[in-house]
Amino acid sequence: MKSSGKCDVLVIGTGIIGVMSALYLQNAGRSVTFLERGEIARGASAGNAGILAFPEIIPIPAPGIMKKAPRWLVDPLGPLSVPPAYAMKIAPWLWRFWKASSPRRFRYGLDVQMRMMALAASEMQKVAAVPELAGHISNTGTLDLYDNRTSFDAARHDWDLKEKAGIAFSRVDRSEIERLQPGLAPQFQHAMFTPGGLQVADPYEFTRSIADLVLARGATLHKGEATRIEIVGESTIVSLKSGEKIDADKVIIACGAWSKTLAASLGDVVPLETERGYNTTLPEGAFDLTRQLYFNDHAFVVTPLSSGIRVGGAVELGGLDLPPNFRRSEALLNKAKRFLPGLKTEGGKQWMGFRPSLPDCLPVIGPSRASNSVIYAFGHGHLGLTQSAATAKLVTDLVTGNHPAISVDPFRASRFG
Ligand SMILES: Cc1cc2nc3c(=O)[nH]c(=O)nc-3n(C[C@H](O)[C@H](O)[C@H](O)COP(=O)(O)OP(=O)(O)OC[C@H]3O[C@@H](n4cnc5c(N)ncnc54)[C@H](O)[C@@H]3O)c2cc1C
Repeated sequence: MKSSGKCDVLVIGTGIIGVMSALYLQNAGRSVTFLERGEIARGASAGNAGILAFPEIIPIPAPGIMKKAPRWLVDPLGPLSVPPAYAMKIAPWLWRFWKASSPRRFRYGLDVQMRMMALAASEMQKVAAVPELAGHISNTGTLDLYDNRTSFDAARHDWDLKEKAGIAFSRVDRSEIERLQPGLAPQFQHAMFTPGGLQVADPYEFTRSIADLVLARGATLHKGEATRIEIVGESTIVSLKSGEKIDADKVIIACGAWSKTLAASLGDVVPLETERGYNTTLPEGAFDLTRQLYFNDHAFVVTPLSSGIRVGGAVELGGLDLPPNFRRSEALLNKAKRFLPGLKTEGGKQWMGFRPSLPDCLPVIGPSRASNSVIYAFGHGHLGLTQSAATAKLVTDLVTGNHPAISVDPFRASRFG
């Protein structure tokens, strides 16, 4: 076994959380080494919907959610599915998810998300102002569409909470819907428009550009797979599958859905699972899409990207190893065609990605139980892109010993007992 020498900060994982953390750490004067087992920025951060969803403060585990679940589960290609081969394995996670949906825990989650989203929005503004990253972020607003009056009314409670939180939006009728997005099927008579809705032009290009910037500023990339982390005296030793060992002053674990094993090697048992999501990216010209469209009753989104039109979403609780079921991408595309009849569905590229998800739908950000020299930054579920700059700020505060911008207590790894 050879030792690669001591590095200052080792960031394991080059998804949006890892690269954004590296950018902030460099700005704070730290020297960064990336450790990545695959290609830079090719995890969940490559294929997501590209939405900076700062208004999405409502926790997914909400009172009554478990009553809706059986209805969704009836359709194996619907918004939520659990492959039979994974049903027993996901049961403990679902139980914790159900516990997180109590009215008390929901209010707590809402409060935490409001603070996290405020930080996320203000930090992302700073990222958008970095000259090398100019042009990646745009503001076209978000249109939330409902199938009918009943589902629109059912969502009213969430919109009331957003209003209380100071989020600007307006109810729009059919003529306004048509103005905001021509070509929608006539069934869409009820919608909300959030003018502050932001997105990136392409999530892979955004993540890759940050990685390139960090590398151009002097970071190094080490290719390899971390298998365990040990604290030996004053040293933090990362073992690689190849047999190499890396000694680092600080280690950031930003391995997305694959972070659980490394946390376990430090004594932190974290109920991290994956909510697999599917999409299809259609070539440019597939539709004249003016902005992000969220089809609330079907849990999927259609986003205009620089690389084309991306149609995707839904949740499959199927773990890391089962093969993808691309019939789910097709099902979403068929629905999108029904809702946008002029959509050209040919020539699309299918993709499946692993959302890293904790049952309370909050990330893990903070020191490991074994040592403050290892900082966790994973488990952002549906909101990793959105909360990447906020996470990077918190990680950097923890590394540099500054008082964290907001309390990281709700994000501690030990919260699951
Ligand atoms: C369909 C879909 C749509 C989404 N839409 C949005 C959206 O619109 N807005 C939003 O905010 N979020 C969205 N998300 C969620 C978002 O994509 C994720 O939360 C985010 O990308 C997670 O980033 P990450 O850096 O933690 O993980 P990843 O991007 O998965 O990166 C993890 C990296 O770690 C590396 N790695 C793993 N293990 C090891 C190891 N042992 N050693 C070395 N390297 C390792 C991997 O190779 C990978 O490069 C969506 C997700 C999906 C699936």
